[in-house]
Amino acid sequence: MHRRRNIGILAHIDAGKTTVTEHLLHLGGLIRRPGSVDSGTTVTDWMVEEQQRGITITSAASTFKWRDSDVTLVDTPGHVDFTIEVERTLRVLDGVVLVISGPDGVQAQTETVWMQKVGAGLPAICFVNKLDGADFEVDALLKQIADRLHVVPVPLQVARRNDDGWSLIDILGTASGPDPRWVWDADGTSHGISKIEESRDELGEVLRLEAMDRLVDAIASSDDAYAELVLGNGEPTREQHLAALRKAVAERQVLPVLFGAARHGLGLTALANTIVELLPPAAERKVEVFPVAASGITEAHATSLSTLADGPSCVYVFKTEPRRGGLRLAFVRVFGGLIRAGDVLVRTPDQANFTPRQLVRVIGRDFDEVPSFEHGEIGALLFGPEDPFPRTGDTLGLQIQPFTIERIHPPEPVIEVAVEAQDSDGHTLMLKAFADMCEDDPSLRLGTDRDTGRALLAGMGELHLEIAIERVQRELGLELLTGHPQVRRRFILWAAAEGEAIVNHPAGRARARIRIGVRPHPTLEIESIELDRPDWGGAVLSGLEAAVGIDGTGPHPLLNGHVRVVEIELHGTDIVPIMLRDAAEWAALRALTLADLKPAEPWVRLEVIAPDAAIGRLVGDLARRRARVKGSESRGAAQILTAEVPLSELIGFATDLRSMTGGRGQFSLVPLGHRAVDA
Ligand code: GDP
Repeated sequence: MHRRRNIGILAHIDAGKTTVTEHLLHLGGLIRRPGSVDSGTTVTDWMVEEQQRGITITSAASTFKWRDSDVTLVDTPGHVDFTIEVERTLRVLDGVVLVISGPDGVQAQTETVWMQKVGAGLPAICFVNKLDGADFEVDALLKQIADRLHVVPVPLQVARRNDDGWSLIDILGTASGPDPRWVWDADGTSHGISKIEESRDELGEVLRLEAMDRLVDAIASSDDAYAELVLGNGEPTREQHLAALRKAVAERQVLPVLFGAARHGLGLTALANTIVELLPPAAERKVEVFPVAASGITEAHATSLSTLADGPSCVYVFKTEPRRGGLRLAFVRVFGGLIRAGDVLVRTPDQANFTPRQLVRVIGRDFDEVPSFEHGEIGALLFGPEDPFPRTGDTLGLQIQPFTIERIHPPEPVIEVAVEAQDSDGHTLMLKAFADMCEDDPSLRLGTDRDTGRALLAGMGELHLEIAIERVQRELGLELLTGHPQVRRRFILWAAAEGEAIVNHPAGRARARIRIGVRPHPTLEIESIELDRPDWGGAVLSGLEAAVGIDGTGPHPLLNGHVRVVEIELHGTDIVPIMLRDAAEWAALRALTLADLKPAEPWVRLEVIAPDAAIGRLVGDLARRRARVKGSESRGAAQILTAEVPLSELIGFATDLRSMTGGRGQFSLVPLGHRAVDA
């Protein structure tokens, strides 16, 4: 039977995600030679590589054939600044391969993407990479996976370290003969690697049976039918074990673990086999949908919809991207039926029409035209520069649907930088380029500094902003001037207050008086009001939103608080919405000036790995950055420090770390939310 699977590969930066991806595509015959990653190995090359990945390679959705399946690998970036990329990709996946570097273990970033994945409820398998790298203990790694990712890891292989290399014993037995043993030079270079087909020795068989017991226990505890099978007479067949494992993976009871060294192409056949044997096919994917009422207003509760091959056609836009010559791509996943080239697509609920010029399959920078997208397929719609263009999160189909698929909620930007071109023509071009970029990346915002009138670009981290700015510079051939990046402060509301404002019509024929109350509340909530005309209510709401800085800007952007209209009095016949908007904004601003506001700033959890020799300096540096060191762990001749730090103190940290450690330090960040600024 022909099956389709959309798989994401998640990993910490440098764990080997790109290398694994390339080797899988190579195995599937899609690319002739894997290994473009290693063309540059210096720190700077690696940075450029990462930047490229953040921008273009992220969109790659490359399909290869393996056994009876079409496997589409959807790439996701590894940097925490791009968590929105990860979030939107997870929406369209059927399963995940988590790549962990054996010598480096589970890192903070891995935990973040994992938590997102768990949120998305996706089945997963794990590939432990870099067996040829520095020595590590398999059992300690498995324990770390269990503790940090809150899963039950079940190895599918016994990985055994010998004096000169590793051997892997397939626990369930393979159809393809004896188990491999790999031998390499102690320094892990590629010379001297050899693969020996080994039949099992006695110790190997003992270890295999032990591991088999562990695997059986892990599955049987949640699967009665399987438990009966195991307890009953005789050994279940490989296919019976796999069927039970498949179910346990779909229900996320266990995380099957495989081992290998992607750089040398070792262990990837087993990985490809496991992807098609254990991860569920696209046809089994359920999706959360929101019913659309007849009024066109989306109801607030979600239901789970089984996707239907023969149901009405329904595609979901999960990402948009510009291409050369003003062309634009909208990446979609088909959640029902199929669509063909030439179809006009209708958006639910507003009935806007879109006519893609082509349906295309994208590989890196290139794309190929295809006649149709089938159920479960991921592909892209190609639009011309002037064509109406859908947005990320849109639900499209051949006709209007009774539901929409959940939109993507962008995170609030936490850091901003002033940007300016050298002249006014350049400035206009720059603004347009950033505005387009914000359309494609909702975690990036363009605004104006209230005090200076300068353009402000806001995003999720220093790297996020740097990449956006570099991309605009490169595309426009412009040199941009940038300010010092600043972390956006928000305010916590501690005590209630009220404020009032009166706005008169310029010609004096109308008057609006509004009184606004603010009080502490765990989240930010604005109570809407009904007025005689719907656009009046909307005007009041938009004034209140501006006052509390709903977009993170304004004089007192609030983190929390309840905001409501206490009193509203309108005189005269010439009331216009702008009067209501201004009165509401000023009244709310007055209330906020009187209320007790405390500034708050974003904090992050920092994980740094640095050579022992640099630890003294690093600790001193972190203390100056107001860091609270939470722990340290030694790893060979290096240490891993974990600390909580205000994000504002980490601006420039990447550069400082490089000079403190001679380029050998690495770090990752995980957001911890806002905390009050100490007096
Ligand atoms: P990504 O950042 O997760 O995409 O990781 P890459 O695939 O770019 O790999 C990061 C670095 O690890 C590169 O220098 C790779 O050559 C190296 N690498 C990848 N796989 C292996 C492996 O199996 N063994 C060793 N020793 N290095 C590897």
